[in-house]
Amino acid sequence: MMRSLRWAVWVAVLTFLVAACSTVPITGRKQLNLIPQSEMLSMSFQQYGDFLKSNKVTSNEQQVQLVRGVGGKIQKAVESYFAQKGLSDALKDYKWEFNVVESKEVNAWCMPGGKVVVYTGILPVTKTEAGLAVVMGHEIAHAVAEHGGERMSQELIANMGGMLLSKALEEKPEATKSLWLSVYGVGAQFGALLPFSRTHESEADHLGLVFMAMAGYDPNEAVSFWTRMSQGSGGQAPPEFMSTHPSDQTRIANIQKELPEAMQYYTPR
Ligand SMILES: [Zn+2]
Repeated sequence: MMRSLRWAVWVAVLTFLVAACSTVPITGRKQLNLIPQSEMLSMSFQQYGDFLKSNKVTSNEQQVQLVRGVGGKIQKAVESYFAQKGLSDALKDYKWEFNVVESKEVNAWCMPGGKVVVYTGILPVTKTEAGLAVVMGHEIAHAVAEHGGERMSQELIANMGGMLLSKALEEKPEATKSLWLSVYGVGAQFGALLPFSRTHESEADHLGLVFMAMAGYDPNEAVSFWTRMSQGSGGQAPPEFMSTHPSDQTRIANIQKELPEAMQYYTPR
């Protein structure tokens, strides 16, 4: 009796872990994500709405058009890549949105479900439309590769004893929200920003190159952008983007190695 119960528990645990395991498109890396997409999206839509209400959305029409134009093209590229691979289901509940906030912060991010914010402080560093496509392709790649879910899973296990997201929200709403914001690079004002792991960074670079190329932007521009970023050109403000996305020679060398693959997806407009 005890033995069969033990087996039943093992089978349940294994089934759960297999179900929680998914594969990242393009790189094929296996990931463990304990949080259902429905929970990630409802949290995301809530936090995104709150963020827009408590920050100054720019009235500079030119910047808005620029960000929405580039974002829309990357969105189409992502959707067509996922459709080609039979993965469209993963994007079906996305509600894409691209906004620009007025801030000296050198920052940009994309929450699950395609909720993107670009800070005006990063525009002097992106410089061109293609430079902006590097950043947006990279941030959108973090979202569609579900890096946030993976990081939230790790943080919930490390800091909250493996609590479910919904339960953590109920019992420790403030801690859970600030954890969420720091995972997505939004937490500067709370003094907490968690850098993405090297694995997530290079994976987002890799996917981002493919998406920007499919969107009609020359992926070689990624090398120029990350070089500018590592030189700290542009804004005077502390570069939040740098603390979540450390830029160094290794990153640039890896991007250079991936350029030939990305160029196969590139059709200039
Ligand atoms: Zn990143």
